[in-house]
Amino acid sequence: MIELPHQIAAKLRKSRNTLIACHVAPDGDCLGSALALRLALTRLKVRAQVGSSDGVPEPFLELPGAGDVLTTPPATPADVAVAIECSTPDRAGAFAQALLDAGTVINIDHHVSNAGYGHIVYWDTTAAAVGEQVMKVIQALRVSIDRDLAQCLLTAVVTDTGSFRYPNTGARTLRLAAELVEAGASVPEIVERVYETRSAGALRLQGMALAALRQSPDGRIAWTTVTAEMLAASGAVAEETTGLVGILRQIRGVQVALLFEVTPQGVRVGIRSRDGARSNVIAEAFGGGGHQGAAGFTGAGQLDHVIATTLAEAEKELRQAAHTPAPRRRR
Ligand code: AMP
Ligand code: MN
Repeated sequence: MIELPHQIAAKLRKSRNTLIACHVAPDGDCLGSALALRLALTRLKVRAQVGSSDGVPEPFLELPGAGDVLTTPPATPADVAVAIECSTPDRAGAFAQALLDAGTVINIDHHVSNAGYGHIVYWDTTAAAVGEQVMKVIQALRVSIDRDLAQCLLTAVVTDTGSFRYPNTGARTLRLAAELVEAGASVPEIVERVYETRSAGALRLQGMALAALRQSPDGRIAWTTVTAEMLAASGAVAEETTGLVGILRQIRGVQVALLFEVTPQGVRVGIRSRDGARSNVIAEAFGGGGHQGAAGFTGAGQLDHVIATTLAEAEKELRQAAHTPAPRRRR
């Protein structure tokens, strides 16, 4: 059997019109990978566009090609569409239908909860970032990794490993990062933009949300809420809640951290866990997904109801985690 990255490369080389779709609320892994793949295809004169329903968040605006990202699907259906870490097609938001309408659908993902749709499914849960998989596709395309490509791919790796702090940071990931740094990419440049630059409003919002944090009686679950009123009072925008739920997980003894954000689409729940508790299992109970250590979903119904049902599911997962030996914690 031809290896998946080579199969994908062969399809892409022949594509006349390629759509690379990101998931809603795209992160550095998704955007960095999508932009890297587009750059590589452009080098080969293969027409490719990146689609991101929610655009490009501020920290990634400087990445090469970020200015050309589409927020609504093009009129003509794509010959080949590549879904970047979309566990189901609808994770692509406004691009969901465009994915399904394409002649060939390529599904590339490293989340545990991928539905396995598409003509070619390149699913590798051992990859620390989907950027690792995309790098293999680019290598199969025989495009050399220059500084621009390296910066996109390193953004993917740095953001999905929490700048090399999460348990998905293995020797393989560090070697790959070293290769990208040798090609001209810069870790401090990415860290500066993603982790060290925030608006005053984002910090005020963080303060408000942390001041309102709650814990279960045994201290194993911590949660807080972000409402539209809090956004307005702090001056922050919705995408600036990134990182908040990870802070809740820092509390000694916390195994599951939850952030409930009231949005016009419903209550968005961000989940982070450790010590054997599986975020993805909690998210999957409500139709969402993710990794063992980080997952999410959008809940239906009122905030109080979403909080109560999620807490019950987290308690259930903690009872199960207590009976299973703690596996190595992944992201
Ligand atoms: P977030 O809390 O948005 O940072 O998401 C944490 C992880 O869970 C990321 O890897 C997301 O891609 C994934 N995730 C979040 N929401 C969903 C969802 N509704 N379905 C599948 N995966 C999700
Ligand atoms: Mn990822």
